[in-house]
Amino acid sequence: MSRLTAQSLRVQLVHASAKVYAKGWVANHDGNLTARSGPGRIVATPTAMSKGDVTENDLIVVNDQGEQVSGRLKSFTEMALHLAVYERRKDVQAVIHAHPPYATAMAVAGFGLERPIIAEAVVSLGDRVPLVPFALPKTEAWRAGVADHCERYDALMLQNHGVITWGDSLEQAFLRMELVEHLATITHHSMAFGGPRFLDEAHLAPLLDARRKAGLGPEARGLSAPQPPARPPLNVPRPAAAPLAGAGGIDTERLVAVILEELARLER
Ligand SMILES: [Zn+2]
Repeated sequence: MSRLTAQSLRVQLVHASAKVYAKGWVANHDGNLTARSGPGRIVATPTAMSKGDVTENDLIVVNDQGEQVSGRLKSFTEMALHLAVYERRKDVQAVIHAHPPYATAMAVAGFGLERPIIAEAVVSLGDRVPLVPFALPKTEAWRAGVADHCERYDALMLQNHGVITWGDSLEQAFLRMELVEHLATITHHSMAFGGPRFLDEAHLAPLLDARRKAGLGPEARGLSAPQPPARPPLNVPRPAAAPLAGAGGIDTERLVAVILEELARLER
């Protein structure tokens, strides 16, 4: 990578770090961002620093074993998760880890985005963002949770922890983090209207085909991926409610009744 390109990557990394902070996806010293900066080299935000304060002078560089090769500040424990992705996904150029509040709330409650709710998101992220079971930091199970899922997916929810995304650029990794948080936010708000109604499995094949044609997903990378595991029975708790939409579309009366019921419940 030329010096100029390496420099522009550092500028991009600082910019992405500031955006992660501005979005409210991290608190304290949470979160970390990395990007491939050359053969066996990864440029990264340092540990123990707010993602809103990182400057180009604060960035560090590690090799593909995680050993620091430059920078006055220190690397971070979660680098092992980033390296697990870079090791298995040669196409990946950037990884972002954060704790965006809605997606992290779902992961804390033990839910992934296991069932699709928005068609466009299936094209962008696939038919699910799975929940990786909790494991203590620095353990092999912790690293393996990400390593075992990263070939099939581009975003993972980490139980009782946060979210990790990656992509062919910092921008793509950022947009995937943004989309995961957006889907979790929509899922949360849908609970006020009786909970999400998931896309029918029958609609998934053409959407996943569009994803492959866009050069996204394991099949587009020529991976003969194993069949995905069966979905959990139902990953979002839904109160029992009559359907809002029938064959003729939204039942407005029913919708108003549900909203009024919800408001009354909140006032109690
Ligand atoms: Zn974390």
